[in-house]
Amino acid sequence: MEIKHIILRHMKMELLQPFTTSLGTEYDKDFILVEIKSKEGISGWAESVAAIDPLYKEETVKTNWHIMEDFLIPLLLQKPVQHPDEVYERFRHIRGNYMAKSALEGAMWDLYAKQQGMSLAKALGGTKEKIDVGISLGIQESVKDLLHLVEDALVKGYKRIKVKIQPGWDVEVIREIRQHYPSIPLMADANSAYSLKDIDRLAQLDEFSLMMIEQPLSHDDIIDHAELQKRLTTPICLDESIHSAEDVRKAIQLGSCKVINIKIGRVGGLSEAKRIHDLCQAHDIPVWCGGMLEAGVGRAHNIAITTLPGFVLPGDTAASSRYWKEDIIDPEVTVENGVITVPDKPGIGYEPNRERIEERTLYSKLYA
Ligand code: MG
Repeated sequence: MEIKHIILRHMKMELLQPFTTSLGTEYDKDFILVEIKSKEGISGWAESVAAIDPLYKEETVKTNWHIMEDFLIPLLLQKPVQHPDEVYERFRHIRGNYMAKSALEGAMWDLYAKQQGMSLAKALGGTKEKIDVGISLGIQESVKDLLHLVEDALVKGYKRIKVKIQPGWDVEVIREIRQHYPSIPLMADANSAYSLKDIDRLAQLDEFSLMMIEQPLSHDDIIDHAELQKRLTTPICLDESIHSAEDVRKAIQLGSCKVINIKIGRVGGLSEAKRIHDLCQAHDIPVWCGGMLEAGVGRAHNIAITTLPGFVLPGDTAASSRYWKEDIIDPEVTVENGVITVPDKPGIGYEPNRERIEERTLYSKLYA
């Protein structure tokens, strides 16, 4: 694949509703949209999931732009890439900066799949034609509001309900949901809001038969999680702590979790996401694909990786219309009864809409 040029766009899109987690509230979303154009005129697309603030992880839109412009793009433009797996290797000596790496690598994967005339899902080795999806519900003003959202999600057919928790919005909230819905697939995500001091409180969640509790402890921890997992019957799922297949190997060895949330951006791209998937499959660890409030292009990448056979649990990839008045792809991502039909067109399978992208671009720059 010979690159003609790379365009970075700083996008800003307004969320339909604010989204609140233990990390804070998001009202709109800034992100970098990457377009890599080949010498033959094919465009590969991806989004960076880095946000405007370093709250979920260290990376931000600004740090991503810096790392891409000053380090990663020059490496990518140096010489042609035969297969997108080479991109991870080419970036390997640059430490961290997973989301920045992933955005460029993802656009190369889309470009590669389009050149091969196959869907991104197939190019990755995906086997599913349909994927099950769940929904992630933020922290609400009241439990009543949350119950309305749960009801609405169930009516729409979402395959599992995830609720964000934090101290003061946890055991009682889950108890209330369970009183109304004793047997729905339910899980909780703490986004690192607890420490081992809260072990007794977290153990109280065991009575609700949750599918899992996601990242209860520190964003960079796998040691304390191992101690917590010994105490809990509820499986722990790691999100923030996992950046590589190496991290997963250590977490499995320590017994830090029983489930892994794979986010492409958090692990440096699709190639490493695949390696994590393979490792988890070999150890009977179920995986699922987490969400980062992506716009359509990022959503399409999540759909593609979820077609790998080890993604046995419903992911966070809800419909475009849950987050956006208007998405930047055609058609939008739609969910029917909790199921997304995987597109079979070449690449990501959805067409980026240049007019709508232009309207939402704050700034862009071309690199050749
Ligand atoms: Mg999470």
